[in-house]
Amino acid sequence: MNSNQEAPSNAPRVVRVAVPVPLHQLYDYSVPDSLPLPAPGARVTVQFGRQRLTGVCVEHNPADAHDKLRPIADVLDNEPALPADLYDLALWLADYYQHPLGEVLATILPAEARRGRPLEIQRSEVWSATGHSADLKRAPRQQALLDCLSAAGGSASAAALREAGFSRALVKAAAGKGLIARLETAPDIATQVCEEPLALNPEQAAALAALESRPAGFAPTLLEGITGSGKTEIYLQLIQRLRNRGRQVLVLVPEIALTPQTVGRFERRFGGSGAVASLHSNLTDRERLQTWLRCRNGEISVLIGTRSAVLAPFRDLGLIVVDEEHDGSFKQQDGLRYSARDVAVKRAQGLGIGLLLGTATPSLESLNNAHAGRYAHLRLQHRVAGASLPGFHLIDIRGQTLQDGISDELARILKRHLDQGGQTLVFLNRRGFAPSYLCARCGWQAVCGQCEMRMTLHLSPRVLICHHCSQRQPLPRACPECAREQLIAVGVGTQRTEVGLARLFPDIPLYRIDRDTTRSQKRMEAQFASIREGQPAILLGTQMLAKGHHFPKVTLVAVINADSGFMSADFRAPERTAQLITQVAGRAGRAENPGEVWIQTYQPDGALLRSLIDNGYPGFAERELAIRKTAGLPPYRPMALVRAESANADAAREHLAALSRQLGKPLEVLGPAPAPVARVANRFRFQLLVLADSRAALHRGVAVLRAIQPATGVRWSLDIDPYDTF
Ligand code: ADP
Ligand code: ZN
Ligand code: ZN
Repeated sequence: MNSNQEAPSNAPRVVRVAVPVPLHQLYDYSVPDSLPLPAPGARVTVQFGRQRLTGVCVEHNPADAHDKLRPIADVLDNEPALPADLYDLALWLADYYQHPLGEVLATILPAEARRGRPLEIQRSEVWSATGHSADLKRAPRQQALLDCLSAAGGSASAAALREAGFSRALVKAAAGKGLIARLETAPDIATQVCEEPLALNPEQAAALAALESRPAGFAPTLLEGITGSGKTEIYLQLIQRLRNRGRQVLVLVPEIALTPQTVGRFERRFGGSGAVASLHSNLTDRERLQTWLRCRNGEISVLIGTRSAVLAPFRDLGLIVVDEEHDGSFKQQDGLRYSARDVAVKRAQGLGIGLLLGTATPSLESLNNAHAGRYAHLRLQHRVAGASLPGFHLIDIRGQTLQDGISDELARILKRHLDQGGQTLVFLNRRGFAPSYLCARCGWQAVCGQCEMRMTLHLSPRVLICHHCSQRQPLPRACPECAREQLIAVGVGTQRTEVGLARLFPDIPLYRIDRDTTRSQKRMEAQFASIREGQPAILLGTQMLAKGHHFPKVTLVAVINADSGFMSADFRAPERTAQLITQVAGRAGRAENPGEVWIQTYQPDGALLRSLIDNGYPGFAERELAIRKTAGLPPYRPMALVRAESANADAAREHLAALSRQLGKPLEVLGPAPAPVARVANRFRFQLLVLADSRAALHRGVAVLRAIQPATGVRWSLDIDPYDTF
């Protein structure tokens, strides 16, 4: 923040303002005499074109300001809205992700703050008797108020007093006489310690000791621990040490893992009543602002949140933990396209604090940082309580007839586990009944008219749904091309496998868990609760099964198809697939039952799958890193992706071609090429892949794009470090 000297009192007062508009520019305004000069970092209301917007004051009296300026309309804060470190982070975000500062600040501020609401903590109003005595013979209502408070144990909320018939005026009058006083209700966080920490096993103890002996200051550590090795217990004990020193801790978790159970585990350890808080998408805007403010003033000592929590303000942040650091949900896919994991690294570095990245399946980025010595690398290779990791087996399904995706061999294995009283988990990362619907006579295929992508057949109701634009179409009875009634569903999704499993095991409870069955969180929790009761059951689902939840009675994990993930065009697809299979496998055999993992494949000799089976995720990752190095891909070379879309295909392609001419040497520019999903909702999509030999070269190279004016009819965006190239 630029804290230029105040101008002499008779000089014009000018402020430079970051306004939330998609332009790489700041705007100057004058400050009328009726308003105070806003501090840098304070919110101001400004007229921008025909809109009223909430901006943030960046600078006073810039040297190059114009003479004729519009006045600001209002000053909203007496003090900066963001702590200085968060403001510095905003500057870094704007620069690194090439995103306008005004929009970065608008992303950081909670919605209520963007709307100009006051940044005030709402405290519940509680009144208590002070013990002062007075002659109240002539004030029977005040006496009644004191009696009421004493009956309630000395204090009561304003709402309760109102209920009991005491007017606001009466309460004020009693307070004026000093008979009652308002209580400060900020929770006393330091005194609450609840559940005792567990006694660590030797491996955990060694890891915790290593973490504690990390140097003070920025000290990132990658904690690579297999599922069930007790990583979370290590986080908890490390966090406790920070809390004892009065410092705040931020814990980032993937979207799907921020469940009441996760938060409950932290609350049981550190106490509820505000010491532990969570930031997630189900909060109302008001609740979000309150959490944000209580974090800013230090009342919240442990904040657990998804991606956006990395942008929360803290008074004294001492540690950031990123759980499941490999997870794709840490990457924001629109607007400010940031990676919460990468921002966490930057934030910890800026503050000079500790950073702990935990996962069973590290991202290749983090592994590479560990190999290069930038991160300490700790490993947990054993499960708590000695439960062993499941063994992996392949089922070669070449030339076999599958029933709804299930081979005879897999059916026998499922039966064996269910007969022995185990639970089984069947993993298939595709929802719906079948991914294609076609004519057996002429080859016609149901395709989305807006996206040119295959439509997925869904049951109950029977419709075709485009998984890209969500468009629905009724099911044709006859082929629209040749009019024959020989339409068939090809391929399997979870609904189809559900039908098949119900036919094979009619007496076994079957739970399907995918986005279609879990729209209600309550229903999903209820399903998980019945599963945890432990009776033989089949769990069938998509990647929703791979995260967060532990199913201790599962003895068999079956992967219906491992091939499609490894064959996808996206360069990160093999990494993601190996992570997914490893994470799903980690759900099995967590308790005393050693588990088994069976994987159906048409490519039993595929090198990627083999390296995963034979050498586990670490072996796979080494191999994949070598491939990325040879190919000159991330994490060895930084990447950016420029996307453009338009209703007019030529316009989108031309726009990218023009951009690519600006992106000269030393950048490597691939494209313009149609995006892997080339058309969505009637808009054509093209992309440019940009690679460079160094971070500095990439950033210098793509900076020219800031000056590009938006083209009519074309939307385009720049994604630094894209997670998927779709
Ligand atoms: P991870 O986060 O690596 O998957 P968790 O921390 O969730 O592992 O631990 C797995 C299970 O083992 C949990 O039920 C946890 O309560 C338990 N656990 C962890 N550490 C210990 C320990 N030292 N002693 C006993 N139980 C433990
Ligand atoms: Zn046909
Ligand atoms: Zn579509």
